[in-house]
Amino acid sequence: MSESIYEQLEVPTVINATGTKTRISGSLIRDEAMEAMIEASKSFVRIEDLQSRASESIADVTGAEAGYVTSGASAGLMMAAAACLAGDDLEVMAQLPETHNIPDEILAPRTHRTGYDHAIRAAGATIVDVGSNDRHLGTGSRNIEPWEIEEAIADNTAAIFYLEKIYTDPPLEVVTEIAHAHDIPVIVDAAAEVPPVSNLEQFIDEGADLVVYSGGKAIRGPQTTGILAGRRDLIESVALQHLDMHAAKDVWLPSGLIDTETLSGVPKQGIGRSLKVGKEELAGLIKALELFVEEDHDALEAEWLDRSKQIASELATKPGLATHTTESDKTAIAPEVVVSVDESTAGITTVDLVRGLRKEDPRVFVGADSLDAREFTINPMCLTDDEAAYVVERICSYL
Ligand SMILES: *Cc1c(COP(=O)(O)O)cnc(C)c1O
Repeated sequence: MSESIYEQLEVPTVINATGTKTRISGSLIRDEAMEAMIEASKSFVRIEDLQSRASESIADVTGAEAGYVTSGASAGLMMAAAACLAGDDLEVMAQLPETHNIPDEILAPRTHRTGYDHAIRAAGATIVDVGSNDRHLGTGSRNIEPWEIEEAIADNTAAIFYLEKIYTDPPLEVVTEIAHAHDIPVIVDAAAEVPPVSNLEQFIDEGADLVVYSGGKAIRGPQTTGILAGRRDLIESVALQHLDMHAAKDVWLPSGLIDTETLSGVPKQGIGRSLKVGKEELAGLIKALELFVEEDHDALEAEWLDRSKQIASELATKPGLATHTTESDKTAIAPEVVVSVDESTAGITTVDLVRGLRKEDPRVFVGADSLDAREFTINPMCLTDDEAAYVVERICSYL
């Protein structure tokens, strides 16, 4: 048998028991999306035309006015922030990330902040924290109250950022109502919030002005894709700051995304130019999105649950391990197996076990969010049944 590309390169592969994580290469792209990418690679095409077509597909499945393909959800956040800062102002587009004399603050509930908000700051925005983080004092106090958001809106506010997770509050529709009363747009990071497919429409329905999804997680498009869905004027601003315009005005024929009537000229390369998206990624994402919305997600969920239950019951019989699944609390899109380690019986610390697995060839990645509690997790989404059996076998080899 011929060597795989990773054997040729002498790079160890990963058995992924931790779900769609970018650092271990996200998800496996759908075969049909890969085929679309190869097809797309064979002709030249105007990127604007292809973005315009992608916009129709995205609008179709999200119910938004328009859409855009970015080079990841993180890039989508940066472009969303750039759109909220610049609007249709060519001079501001040329200026970013410098923000002299324009509103440049983006409000964020403190408990919605993540490492990804670097993307928002990279556009030139300053993030202003709202609320507190004192839910755990036992006073009944909440992390953030709607009035705190309303009070924080000021002349310098350009947008409100909202991280969409099962645990984030206040509810999105409460935040969008406040924002819109002050004519402020809301940017929603929903990078990993599909499936369910209904979440493609949900946040637009709840009033979000721009929503960001990752194309390289459960949608299983190209790794370097993200989806922006939202208001037409904001998507137009994204296009103007992302596409390579470099064109003589007289022969500039932008397609559906851009309305030349309102523009005073052709913008130069904007802040998004370093976040280029190729024709192959565009074609692959359009295909993957089409297949994702048609997929039988109930069947997939049942498959994930079966796999998790199988893993949990096998590991529970081993000395030093106890297991349960997260099927009922819905903290992740797939039911995960939580493995608790009784370190003295198991004869190994949780850290040594998890680290040992990662050093193998192939590397075995389990979830490591709660090592302090002597727990690790196994996510069924990115495993085959054979791989799941292999993961169980490798874990047992350490006990
Ligand atoms: C994964 C993720 C991102 C980044 O997505 P990419 O498509 O990898 O850029 C941003 N925000 C959240 C909450 C995520 O989970």
